[in-house]
Amino acid sequence: MSDASFPKKIDLRNLTRDDVKSFAVDHGLPAFRAKQLFSWLYRPGIASFAEMTDLPKDLRESLAKEAFFSRLTPAVKELSNDGTIKYGFRLQDGKMIESVLIPEEDRNTLCISSQVGCAMACAFCLTGTMGFSRNLSCAEIVDQVCAVSEDLRENNLGMINNLVFMGMGEPLANFDNLIKALTILLDELGLHFSERRITVSTCGLAPKIIELGQRLKVNLAVSLHAADNDTRNRLMPINLRYPLEILLDACREFSLPRRKRITFEYVLLKGVNDSDQDAVKLARLLHGMPAKINLLPCNEAPELPFAKPGRQRTDTFQDILRRKGFTVLVRSSRGADISAACGQLAAKSSACETALKDDKMP
Ligand code: SF4
Repeated sequence: MSDASFPKKIDLRNLTRDDVKSFAVDHGLPAFRAKQLFSWLYRPGIASFAEMTDLPKDLRESLAKEAFFSRLTPAVKELSNDGTIKYGFRLQDGKMIESVLIPEEDRNTLCISSQVGCAMACAFCLTGTMGFSRNLSCAEIVDQVCAVSEDLRENNLGMINNLVFMGMGEPLANFDNLIKALTILLDELGLHFSERRITVSTCGLAPKIIELGQRLKVNLAVSLHAADNDTRNRLMPINLRYPLEILLDACREFSLPRRKRITFEYVLLKGVNDSDQDAVKLARLLHGMPAKINLLPCNEAPELPFAKPGRQRTDTFQDILRRKGFTVLVRSSRGADISAACGQLAAKSSACETALKDDKMP
């Protein structure tokens, strides 16, 4: 039986630095050992307690009996024509999750998953059509970052500069594990990301938006996708629970550092939410809000009943918002040829699984 599958062992990558401290105290270890142990957990290339050379040998041996630290290795790795890399990870229970690396000129952005599937059922999202399977543990969230960092290092592709929680799942619906994972990602002895380099995206769980802002100072992206409740109700069932007024009140309460703005994501669906009137309504809705707007012309998929608006329509929509004083970017789709673009994640996971069984994947 492998370390990781031994049921009574503790996965130390589920523990924040404070949790490791409590673990150490419970085991009669001094505080400095907890600090040493925690920092070893996130050093590149470390795979076993035996490699933690400044811990006494007997401690390393007893740790190996009681604990382990999980690692993920990619089961699938696909490279898009535009350089985007999609990683498929098989979890302990056999479920698959995906992370997507988006290399840009001066930085690498990693998009990570927070759940297996998603319960939010947004009408334009293929992940939503899979339904919800389970929350990821803190370790499973952090392990995606460690595994991709390792792959980048081995291939001399640099490091991860930005992290976005925009993969499979709604991160705020897995709140406790999200907070723990963020705590480890931000810890200088953990993965040491800057708050400015992490963005949590949500479809609009209003109370959790406020709570996130109270707990940590990371960036917030809100998937808005409609500027009136009728349209949003049809596209995003979460709007029935937290309609636009409540969502935007929560955004106003989200504590932002000075000069920071919330990113509002708006997928443009031809004939659904892309008219001039929609743009004017959106401007009115976000008036006075520290906001920047990302327009995402929809990623068409045979399974979904939506089409991408033409270039002219997208430009006009953007112009209307710009003339109202907003910063508006049109985000081009990355990795669409490998189903790694927004809203496409894991849609093809059953195809991946078949290919894995057939040994066709790299
Ligand atoms: S857009 Fe996000 S929240 Fe909505 S179904 Fe897809 S993964 Fe879930």
